[in-house]
Amino acid sequence: MNHKNIEIATEDLKYIWHPCTQMKDHETLPLIPIKSGKGVYLYDFEDNAYIDAISSWWVNIFGHVNEHISSKIKEQLDTLEHVLLAGFTHKPAVDLAKKLVNLTPQGLDKVFFADNGSSAVEVALKMSFHYHRNQGNHRPLFLSLSNSYHGETIGALSVGDVELYKETYAPLLIACIQTPVPKDQTKVSAKEAIVELKKILEARGSEISAFIIEPLVQGAGSMHMYHPLYIKLAKGVCKKHGVHLIIDEIMTGFGRTGTMFACEQADITPDFMTVSKGLTGGYLPLAITLTTLDVYNAFYCDYGEFKAFLHSHSYTGNPLACTAALATIELFEASDVLGENRKKSAYILKKLEKFKKLPNVKEVRQTGMIAVVELQGYQPQERIGLKVYEYGLNHGVLLRPLGHVIYFMPPYIITYEEIDKMIDTAYEAIVLLPS
Ligand SMILES: *Cc1c(COP(=O)(O)O)cnc(C)c1O
Repeated sequence: MNHKNIEIATEDLKYIWHPCTQMKDHETLPLIPIKSGKGVYLYDFEDNAYIDAISSWWVNIFGHVNEHISSKIKEQLDTLEHVLLAGFTHKPAVDLAKKLVNLTPQGLDKVFFADNGSSAVEVALKMSFHYHRNQGNHRPLFLSLSNSYHGETIGALSVGDVELYKETYAPLLIACIQTPVPKDQTKVSAKEAIVELKKILEARGSEISAFIIEPLVQGAGSMHMYHPLYIKLAKGVCKKHGVHLIIDEIMTGFGRTGTMFACEQADITPDFMTVSKGLTGGYLPLAITLTTLDVYNAFYCDYGEFKAFLHSHSYTGNPLACTAALATIELFEASDVLGENRKKSAYILKKLEKFKKLPNVKEVRQTGMIAVVELQGYQPQERIGLKVYEYGLNHGVLLRPLGHVIYFMPPYIITYEEIDKMIDTAYEAIVLLPS
């Protein structure tokens, strides 16, 4: 590392406690100060370029420093940077709400703003519980899929099922039970999992406010994938028991799975949908919980009946973030992004063929612009993912495996040459691993 890289990394470690990190790792693993970004690339102070193969934790769907999004934010910056959203409103929030209502499945007609993914999940959980209460029903339990992830604030963590994040805090969590996620992408597995869902709802449906799921792909749960049929059938089963269906599109939303929203592939309208991550193109924190008029109307009454939804965040509906979101949606309108992505994901899948012949590769799977190579034969202590990560960084690609699961979730603007580089680098890394 050159002088500037070292200086910033050293200063950083004096002051910053990083997310999702055992800080002691940084005694040996260097931090990477990033100076700038452009397109799929991040640059450090030595002008090393890294292809951001994970869209910086799945948010930068159009890459870094996009001209259109940047220019819209600059305009908004000199007009209105922020105003509270209670008692006041502004054009970017209204325009964005209208756009999202039109863009999401029919029947999601109301938009509630929050400022990060976890808080959008909290909003959905609280709204669902409160809806039932306003109807005179007590439903203190939530249901989620095994292996699910919905964020890390207490409520969101409670409905997740990733041991690593959850175990320590078990005594603090709200009540939630799990039903098995379909074990693979086949229809047969979807139907098997529905049998289990039916059993649980028949036994405990009247206690449950909502069933929350990540549609098609469980992101933090090692990119596990399942068939849309499950969502379609789950919707019917939930409806029968008066249980809300919350579709958490925080990771899958905005084209990642091949359609604008993953639940379109199941052709259903959930009772709640949460979006964040790709929403602002990775520019600013913003999140939204969409819901139906049925839910909205259950809170609508005279003051003093204590039915209103009294939830708020300081930065709710921030105008700069709403402007970034509008500009991001405009990029989808300006060209056939989803069509181009279909070609790119077909190309990626073809390139992954040769991985299947490696003895340490268990499975290759894909949904839209998420492609996965799952390795086998390693113990967690071997930290095999870390080896791939380090190899990638030394060869100009930011990969960040989830344990033994290597995945590609690049910005949509990635070129075919950049795809080659990204995947060839991962291949070299895997070939070099001990077997
Ligand atoms: C990232 C994520 C969240 C949490 O969002 P944050 O902004 O990190 O709080 C919730 N649900 C899913 C599916 C996610 O991928």
